[in-house]
Amino acid sequence: MTIELLVLGGERIAAAEGKTFEVIEPSTGASMAEAAEGGVEDARRAVGIAREAFEEGPWPRTSATERGRVLTRASILFRERLEEFAQVEARNGVKPINAARGEMGIVANVLEYWGGAANKIFGETIPIQQPGIDVTLREPVGVCALITPWNFPLVIATWKIAPSLACGNTIVVKPASYTPLTVLKLADVLVEAGLPPEAISVVPGPGSTTGNALVSDPRVSKVGFTGSTSVGTQIMQLAANNITRVSLELGGKSANVVFADAELDVCVERSVWSVFDNTGQDCCSRSRMLVQRPIYDEFVERIAKRTAELSVGEPLDESTDLGPLITESQRQISLDYVEIGLEAGARLVTGGDKPDRPGFFLRPAILADVDNSWRVAQEEIFGPVACMIPFDTEEEAIRLANDSPYGLSGSVWTRDLGRAIRVAKAIRTGVIGVNSSSSVFTEAPFGGYKQSGIGREMGMHAVNLYTEVKNIYFSEV
Ligand code: NDP
Repeated sequence: MTIELLVLGGERIAAAEGKTFEVIEPSTGASMAEAAEGGVEDARRAVGIAREAFEEGPWPRTSATERGRVLTRASILFRERLEEFAQVEARNGVKPINAARGEMGIVANVLEYWGGAANKIFGETIPIQQPGIDVTLREPVGVCALITPWNFPLVIATWKIAPSLACGNTIVVKPASYTPLTVLKLADVLVEAGLPPEAISVVPGPGSTTGNALVSDPRVSKVGFTGSTSVGTQIMQLAANNITRVSLELGGKSANVVFADAELDVCVERSVWSVFDNTGQDCCSRSRMLVQRPIYDEFVERIAKRTAELSVGEPLDESTDLGPLITESQRQISLDYVEIGLEAGARLVTGGDKPDRPGFFLRPAILADVDNSWRVAQEEIFGPVACMIPFDTEEEAIRLANDSPYGLSGSVWTRDLGRAIRVAKAIRTGVIGVNSSSSVFTEAPFGGYKQSGIGREMGMHAVNLYTEVKNIYFSEV
């Protein structure tokens, strides 16, 4: 088996200590690749290369239009290899092949978006009270350490890589240890598209050492992180030592609020996917289904029936709806939460059992009659477990939706426009869909309130994460 090497300054290279690790295919539990394991020394080297490239290299000094062209070329090259990337992401990243193809399409779109956006990033002219002219410039922040999770490995990495490069930064990416393969390969595509090699490094390695070394390094100007709230807390603490800028996309426990007047056929179908897509391993998963009492029993029955129809199986099988969990321990956590819910008094309506086959599979579970204060409704499970919670009034729905430490995503289902507006405005969350389970768009801001994070990725809002604003005053005298 060939070893997937690190990317240091655009070049493929073995880890300094020569270590490697097995990359597992969750549908079999067997190894699918061997990757170089970057250590602290590799992280420091990568930061050194990126720092020098920022201080003296061509990328921050390249015209914005040319930077955009590189990203556009990368999107074209990437589209040509889309199926190859989709196959790897499906096998390593637990997604059915059709979902993986969709995600790789998003990656190409994000590269294309920032290819076009790069030369539309500019400052302001400000009417001050002194004689002269006051202007702002948008300048790159410097070296960006981009640390990413395993659930949407390449999509989330590209949300950070594309805007940070478009803004003229140099970058070091640390992908999740379970899923490093596609991010490494994307770096090759970017270099092939004309990115100066020293502008990008990708260093897979354990978060607690390699990731930690990146965040602690004073030569890093900005950390862009997506992952759990607990690691996000550590990142903020480490970054505080050097006043390193941080943006955090963290966990969620989003509400799917279904009123009695909702268009139920559409709502049931979309709600199933809004919680079980990616086998529930989705920060936006609407895992708290708040359902108005007059339709509660019917909704629970219909969503359970549709959930039981989902095919759980091999990611490369075109008919698969849900792939496996990422690890055995992630599956066990979901099983434990089903037990925790049952002990608290919930009713298991469907699923929650392991199919008799190898790999980390689990049938999606629906827990009914859950109280929003219970652990299953308050804690992020990050697996295929949905909670059904009844409510009576609009005020109660808003109160329950907001009774969460998180505030990432959510949906409201109603045909009453006034109610849709009131509830969408009242829920403390970064994104919300009305009569829709969609919340993430390449062109629109994405991020969380409360413990779901700090900052907004995507769309032109991401410019705020990857630039500094400089104010210049030109005196008339
Ligand atoms: P983790 O927080 O465990 O890990 C995320 C990344 O951080 C990984 O690359 C990990 O490395 C690294 N890391 C771990 N510890 C440290 C450290 N001390 N210093 C620096 N880096 C570190 O998250 P998961 O990968 O398990 O992803 C699941 C979580 O991500 C869920 O909570 C989910 O809600 C959240 N998420 C949020 C999204 C959002 O946009 N809000 C989107 C997707 C997921 P390693 O892999 O080696 O452990």
